[in-house]
Amino acid sequence: SQQIRVGIVGYGNLGRGVEASLALNPDLELVGVFTRRDPETLIPARPETRVFGIDALDGLEDRIDVLILCGGSKDDLPIHGPELAARFNTVDSFDTHARVPEYFAAMDAATSGERVAIISVGWDPGLFSINRLYGEAILPDGDTHTFWGRGLSQGHSDAIRRIPGVAAGVQYTIPSEEAISKVRSGERPTLSTRDKHTRECVIVLEDGGNEEAIRQAIVTMPHYFDEYDTTVTVIDAEEFNREHRAMPHGGFVIRSGQSSPETSQVIEYRLALDSNPEFTASVLVAYARAAARLRARGQFGAHSVLDIAPALLSPDSPETLRARLL
Ligand code: NDP
Repeated sequence: SQQIRVGIVGYGNLGRGVEASLALNPDLELVGVFTRRDPETLIPARPETRVFGIDALDGLEDRIDVLILCGGSKDDLPIHGPELAARFNTVDSFDTHARVPEYFAAMDAATSGERVAIISVGWDPGLFSINRLYGEAILPDGDTHTFWGRGLSQGHSDAIRRIPGVAAGVQYTIPSEEAISKVRSGERPTLSTRDKHTRECVIVLEDGGNEEAIRQAIVTMPHYFDEYDTTVTVIDAEEFNREHRAMPHGGFVIRSGQSSPETSQVIEYRLALDSNPEFTASVLVAYARAAARLRARGQFGAHSVLDIAPALLSPDSPETLRARLL
């Protein structure tokens, strides 16, 4: 059967992850990377990858089956998501949880009932959302807890880097082992924000940076750190570059509940990721396959991960999957 022809829009961490993931999926073929920057200035990770300016998409509507949108959720996707969904089938990882309903509506309208758009693909939102749904549907009398980490939070890292005197910084979110054990035990605890996670900041000071003032600015920062127990560790630039350049992440979704008054049940789903963007990209690629299949079936419009049947993610046929996995 024919390969699914894929284009990557935006060549940051996620775009590079999609490029790597496509190499592991022979039923998908990379047409090229499309960037807003000068394509001549970008050196692709794989020598065979072709890099084009975004305008080169004009006229490729019949030559690309699915575009994987790898722009940022804050500024890129709200604009170029609907623009591109008006011309191509798309998959994206829009992750501004509070704005998902309006983004879904904009993408659905842009498809004009003639194309497919799968939004908010990744792990959270994404695989974690699916697992929260399973938990709620299967154990209606229960509680769902999501724990994140140990992981690097891009937003919190940006926030500490903006403090005067900070030359470099990252923030790791650490789930509380004690809180996780309580949830796993099925005792259905009430947990505050502070009980569930701690925040660990690792920073490099600029020359003359006041360590104590910076520490205070971090731990009292509203919305970001004030509701958490936060530690701040100062290291030198060399150690920072050696130990803190990776983007690990992951976490747990745990549902505990009762199927009858005496009987407790626990469902747990865990991710331990060395690279958040490479993993998110791998999820996007599997959903690009689903998008091509929805298009072939004429199931147009916007969809989220909650709407996609799992078998559509696999390169194998439903018959093969039934024989192997059931
Ligand atoms: P990046 O900041 O690396 O890239 C975003 C865009 O910025 C790129 O598409 C690229 O567009 C542009 N860009 C990248 N590097 C540069 C540079 N050096 N100079 C100028 N422009 C640059 O973001 P990520 O790839 O790490 O993440 C993208 C989004 O993925 C996040 O905003 C987040 O919303 C989402 N995400 C979702 C997850 C989920 O579970 N659902 C998990 C992780 C991320 P161009 O090539 O056109 O210039």
